[in-house]
Amino acid sequence: MSVEEQFAKLCLESAAAEGATPVKSLVFKPKTAKSATPVPIVVVALQTTATPSPLIAQATKTKDPRLARDDLFKSAFNCETAKSFTVAYLNGVAASSFQLLIDSQLESVADDAVLQLNETLCIKKGELTKFLAQFEPVTADFTQEVKKPEQQQKKKPAQQQTNNASLEDAKLIGITVDKTKDFPGWYQQVLTKGEMLDYYDVSGCYILRPPSYAIWENIQRWFDDKIKGLGVQNAYFPMFVSSRVLEKEKDHVEGFAPEVAWVTRAGSSELEEPIAIRPTSETVMYPYYAKWIQSYRDLPLKLNQWNSVVRWEFKHPQPFLRTREFLWQEGHTVFLTKEEAEEEVLQILDFYSGVYEELLAVPVIKGRKTEKEKFAGGDFTTTCEGYIPQTGRGIQGATSHHLGQNFSKMFNLTVENPQGPQYPKVFAWQNSWGLSTRVIGVMVMIHSDNKGLVIPPRVSQTQAVVIPVGITKKTSDEQRKIIHESARDIESRLKKIGVRAFGDYNDNYTPGWKFSQYELKGVPIRLELGPRDIEQNHVTVVRRSDSQKYNVKLDELETRIPEILEEMQKDLFEKAKEKFDTHRVIVNEWKDFVPNLNKKNILLSPWCGVMECEEDIKESSAKKDDGEELEVDEKSPSMGAKSLCIPFAQPELKKDQKCIKCDRPAIQYCMFGRSY
Ligand SMILES: [Zn+2]
Repeated sequence: MSVEEQFAKLCLESAAAEGATPVKSLVFKPKTAKSATPVPIVVVALQTTATPSPLIAQATKTKDPRLARDDLFKSAFNCETAKSFTVAYLNGVAASSFQLLIDSQLESVADDAVLQLNETLCIKKGELTKFLAQFEPVTADFTQEVKKPEQQQKKKPAQQQTNNASLEDAKLIGITVDKTKDFPGWYQQVLTKGEMLDYYDVSGCYILRPPSYAIWENIQRWFDDKIKGLGVQNAYFPMFVSSRVLEKEKDHVEGFAPEVAWVTRAGSSELEEPIAIRPTSETVMYPYYAKWIQSYRDLPLKLNQWNSVVRWEFKHPQPFLRTREFLWQEGHTVFLTKEEAEEEVLQILDFYSGVYEELLAVPVIKGRKTEKEKFAGGDFTTTCEGYIPQTGRGIQGATSHHLGQNFSKMFNLTVENPQGPQYPKVFAWQNSWGLSTRVIGVMVMIHSDNKGLVIPPRVSQTQAVVIPVGITKKTSDEQRKIIHESARDIESRLKKIGVRAFGDYNDNYTPGWKFSQYELKGVPIRLELGPRDIEQNHVTVVRRSDSQKYNVKLDELETRIPEILEEMQKDLFEKAKEKFDTHRVIVNEWKDFVPNLNKKNILLSPWCGVMECEEDIKESSAKKDDGEELEVDEKSPSMGAKSLCIPFAQPELKKDQKCIKCDRPAIQYCMFGRSY
């Protein structure tokens, strides 16, 4: 009997997985002398718990533990790969040969709650606790802040400074984690302290607070105008889908099935038939399209809805980027001809790249998805792909799909032939396209810094904050009044020309405190007005993105402020574009592929277009780091490269150019990268 089979006796049927709490089992290897045999550390934690290495070191009294490689899994637990490891492999292993660390947050889970260990293994929490008890586990509190080890700090202050992610002079209200050293920790702080978002008690769901919702509204307004210009109308369809309808298109439902959330009960009674919550609305809408479209004169039909969808993912959730419920728009259009449909796919893609480049100052690459990565059930998918410099990973921005006639055939979406009734009926040509609140996460990751959020002026809820300065105890009431009145006047003049301005006249806080607050929140510019500014008839303007200062004459306020905002918008884009451009490299030979990935690059490589080859590239590029220290990233110890897209703008292919990976001839350049 295999280890998994033995363990499976303890486990429940996988059918119980619905609603189970995902739990991860990680293995770390502490630093030891070269000659010593390392004692592995097994960490069992809620999927949602971050398990930073310093806290593991603290709890196990070891040095610098890192995620283990496959060879350690093999030698210590007889498990082939890190990926396949679960606590089931501990069965029969001597307690003395490893250290077991359990996430204290598991204690709050009820004993009869079901935990999900991997895709197939589930176990009741009580059973797991009993099983793990034999290995003398230690409980670790991962909710505490990562602290500097004090002894080391005294011994090697210089080294500590470079290793520790905490920011030296960060005040408590500000960001205390360095973007370059602990990116996930920094991202969480920037979002919560900047008041963009809050965590919620259902894992994978987040609250969008007014500043982020305002960004979404600005995007909505811009995009809504664009699609209405193409004749698209907004509508709303219900969020519930019957299983009969959801499962109508086979390829399509297969793509979504594992993530569909189901309603099975109302009050205390079980529903006769479970009802799904839409993961997307193709199958919700098209039966009604079939009913409404009778003649080719009813075409084109172009509807869009601004709504939310639910995809119950078990992967590590990340605010904005991977959430179980998210806001988006989904457009669903129907045409008489393929040509019209294909033309629209690209028009929409241009709008999407416009949202990124013109509103969010985020550069993207437009292209087409490979067969492996395209939308399930569609003919082809176009996409705009972004790049996160800090992690070197690509990120899918938004997709516009041509569905061909696949769905119209399933849903019998036909019209009479325009050539006459004696000709066969025509199946309609369809598109669907979506852009989600993910865009906000990408924007934050790219522009924001150790002082907090940096928000491009065009989408920011507040574009300018006016702050009176230079008021001291010696300032007379008369002077104070003049400063406040002038500041209010500036605020109202800005509002009059459409600048989203706000004045902070609260005397209980110092200007310095206010500066940090608005930097944290990412307000694009602040206007400081003090006695000296008033004397010289100007106002001091400071840009959030780079602290650049300007003196703006008061009578030029209406022209200069919009200019400064636009300059900042442009500079943010240029800066991000330069980073993306320098990290997008052409690689023609396989030997250069992984080294370039490890330099946080996105790669353009000649490729044969064959799906198996793409899978081979992904596998061969994973787990190939040569250094002793793997990147500490619980979610993907060293993930392989996925195809991001086949860019529309292609480098010229050399004659007889071979595929980067196999012996087949290359047919195009494909963009590969580690990705979100
Ligand atoms: Zn190939």
